[in-house]
Amino acid sequence: MVSIYKRLISSNALNWVGIPIVLITVLLLISLIFIGRVIERKEKENLRGMLNDNVEYADTLLDSWVENKVSTVELWSNQDGLRRHAAEVLKLKENGGDFAKYHHASTYGDSMDRQVLEHGLLGYFIIAPDGTSLASMRDNNIGTKNIVMLTLPDVFSRVLAGESIVTRPIITDVPIINTRGEMSAKSITSFVMTPIRDDNGTIIAIFSNRISHNSSVASIFEFLHIGSTGESYIFDSRGRMLSESRFKEDLVALGMLGRDEESALNVFLRDPGTLITLETDSHLSLKNKPLTLMARRAIEGGAGSSIEGYRDYRGELVVGAWTWNEKLGVGIAVEIDEAEAFDSLRLTLTYLYSFSFVAIIVLLGAAVVTDWISKRHKKSISELNKEQERTDVILNAAGEGVYGIDAKGFTTFTNPKVTELLGFQAQELIGEKMHDMLHHSRADGSHYPVEECPMSNMIVTGKSITVANEVFWHKKGHSIPVSYTGTPIVEEGKVVGGVITFRDATSELEAIEQIEKSMEEARAANRAKSIFLSSMSHELRTPLNAVMGFGQLLLLDQEKFKKKHVDQINYIISSGEHLLSLINDVLELSKVDAGEMSISLERVSPADVIEESLSMVKSMAQDRHVSINNAWVNKDNLMLKSDFLRAKQCVINLLSNAIKYNHEGGKVVIDTRIVEEGFLRIIITDTGIGIQKNKINDLWEPFNRLGVETGDVEGTGIGLCVTKDILALIGGKIGVESQVGIGSKFWLDLPLWSGDEIPVKPRVKKENINVTLEDVDFGLFADKFIYCVEDNPSNETFLRNIFSEATGVKLVVARTGEEAVAALAKLTPDAILLDLNLPGINGFDVMKSLKKMPHMKNIPIFAVTANIEPILKKKADDAGFNGFLLKPLQVNYLHGLLKKAMGL
Ligand code: ADP
Repeated sequence: MVSIYKRLISSNALNWVGIPIVLITVLLLISLIFIGRVIERKEKENLRGMLNDNVEYADTLLDSWVENKVSTVELWSNQDGLRRHAAEVLKLKENGGDFAKYHHASTYGDSMDRQVLEHGLLGYFIIAPDGTSLASMRDNNIGTKNIVMLTLPDVFSRVLAGESIVTRPIITDVPIINTRGEMSAKSITSFVMTPIRDDNGTIIAIFSNRISHNSSVASIFEFLHIGSTGESYIFDSRGRMLSESRFKEDLVALGMLGRDEESALNVFLRDPGTLITLETDSHLSLKNKPLTLMARRAIEGGAGSSIEGYRDYRGELVVGAWTWNEKLGVGIAVEIDEAEAFDSLRLTLTYLYSFSFVAIIVLLGAAVVTDWISKRHKKSISELNKEQERTDVILNAAGEGVYGIDAKGFTTFTNPKVTELLGFQAQELIGEKMHDMLHHSRADGSHYPVEECPMSNMIVTGKSITVANEVFWHKKGHSIPVSYTGTPIVEEGKVVGGVITFRDATSELEAIEQIEKSMEEARAANRAKSIFLSSMSHELRTPLNAVMGFGQLLLLDQEKFKKKHVDQINYIISSGEHLLSLINDVLELSKVDAGEMSISLERVSPADVIEESLSMVKSMAQDRHVSINNAWVNKDNLMLKSDFLRAKQCVINLLSNAIKYNHEGGKVVIDTRIVEEGFLRIIITDTGIGIQKNKINDLWEPFNRLGVETGDVEGTGIGLCVTKDILALIGGKIGVESQVGIGSKFWLDLPLWSGDEIPVKPRVKKENINVTLEDVDFGLFADKFIYCVEDNPSNETFLRNIFSEATGVKLVVARTGEEAVAALAKLTPDAILLDLNLPGINGFDVMKSLKKMPHMKNIPIFAVTANIEPILKKKADDAGFNGFLLKPLQVNYLHGLLKKAMGL
């Protein structure tokens, strides 16, 4: 839960920025369009300004050129020499003299030619008011009507009226040196004309100087070209170019101009309507084309400009400015290719729009990403909320108290159950040290130092804890037994707190107490049952001793009875045997149930277990004509870690079942194998009746004989159940496979000895005392002295019947151990039968005393008991008894034992 809060808190740090980004994008877009427009407008204004400036500048240059020319000519015309000369030639003309001759012959006329050349002029005229050329560099002009008067009569009149004027360019046939330094037949010239006055100031003639455009005006414009495609030029009112084209080479290449031709006069400013290239032939029909926009406007209306592209005389899209120079009567154009003019603007706008495009893409991308993050964020918030709600529901509904602490032990949250169990409201605990509030004292009221508190330890070690048997303290001051678990909260490898879950353990403790009490009661009941069964068994054995013993005694004299009576005696004996095995099995089972079956694990030879088991069932197999084959040879000298007697008990049980549930003449095979590491499997296979598959699981149920109880095979249905329990105690397992009509295969897996080698206690091989009743003759012990210690009168009677007077045996029976010890101090019998269960000192105590008596050293003493506990037999062996007789006594076995002991 703590981590959920943290995630919620940290998630608030993320702001929703999608809408601002979209707004910023739109604003940016608008700003960029606006900025683009402003830049464009500004650039265009600049361009227009620059073009206009250039035109103005060209105009000014042209004006000052005109003024310069005018002032030069005026200066000259004011010279006395010129005025006199003019008056003289005029006079001559008026008088019909040869003024032409006079002019060239006069000193002044001569010097005029020189001065003209010095001033860079092409020639001069002195013109009479009627327009006759009075003087000139070229004789053939003299006496003719002046070209200006003929072509520009208004200009001529204005000069006669007193103005000094530079005429607009005129095409003349006076050859001049062109721009390439060659003589050109036609030339563009202007005339600088000023009046010549007499001393009274009266205009008597006109002084006119011829100037070349090619050399002077055109050169002005060459310096005014802008950029790499810009061009400045002048043109006349017919749209003829009067200066040299910057693109003359291109024009020649395109066939628009002859190689020897000059641009001036030969290039018309007509709009071809398309770009002239080698492929287009539009220039061929240029004559019919209108003048370029610039030329038209300049001729029609004077100054202007266009920064919207229009086509120039090459068909190129250009922008330009123009004006009309009234003084000279020419148009001035400054143009530049539109592409170049707007190059920097285009570049700027390209950069601007590219940047904007990238910025918008980035911003839109950011908006999309932000939107996506926001959606995810919303989703996770709603998931967190749901998770939180779920967690709250769980915490509120939890049947256990749950609270959180931080790394310093301060409470961070509690659930309602904490309040319910401990009386504190959540707000009383949150922010407080939980140990001080709930856990300050131990159950006995003594102080509980926080350093010893498992919860503090959990914070230090980062390990979960589970604690029972502690107390938490209620707000009202009483303690509540609790059991609790603590889980540390670890973030980035650091313990930042923990969550503690606890429950009221009062009812648990009560239940445990109750269980313990019930267990104790059950144990007591079990003990009582065991004691009961053991004493019952003892008590039952005693009369059985008499029943079976006397039955056997009767059989000793069977020749005295009819066959029918002998059968009945046999029936009594076999029923007694059955009853006996039933008692034994029930006793075993009760011991297992009560957990009182004693087990002592030792190093046991499996060969011994199998051999001794086989010897125990040998006669049974013979009786039923079942052959037993021991197929195992212990080549590897394997050893078991087991309880010898119990292991033997298990093997005997399986072997006897394999014989019991076999057919007449059937087979039993015993073999071993290692199927699992550390275990020896003893396998007993029979060719008997087999077990139905669906009954296999019922094998281990006590008293369940799987339906054979109706047959004549005796059994109790306890053997396998006890076997399984014994195996569990000695760490083994049992298993079975069976097929009805074919046979069964039972196996035992017994743990192998894997520890240090310790010698196996050699087992005293007991001779098989196998005496049939026919061989029994107690007369054999005539004259022998047999001393019995037996407290039970019926057993005593039985013994007295065995060792009757007729046998010649001397029998003395003592009723108590004390009596026997006292008597035997002075007696030396041939054998002693000592009951272990005696009033007063028991058989073992008696044995101890007898052992101390030197004369008892070689006297065989046999333990007699109704207790079938195997450990008792072992105890008897250890105490030094020479044999062990289990009640009810088997007369044949007793006979054989005594016979052997006495060496008869
Ligand atoms: P009991 O032999 O005294 O009846 P067990 O516990 O030894 O009791 O066996 C339980 C039952 O399992 C037997 O009554 C018998 O029906 C069946 N059983 C045991 N061993 C075999 C066997 N080798 N072949 C067939 N049936 C068997």
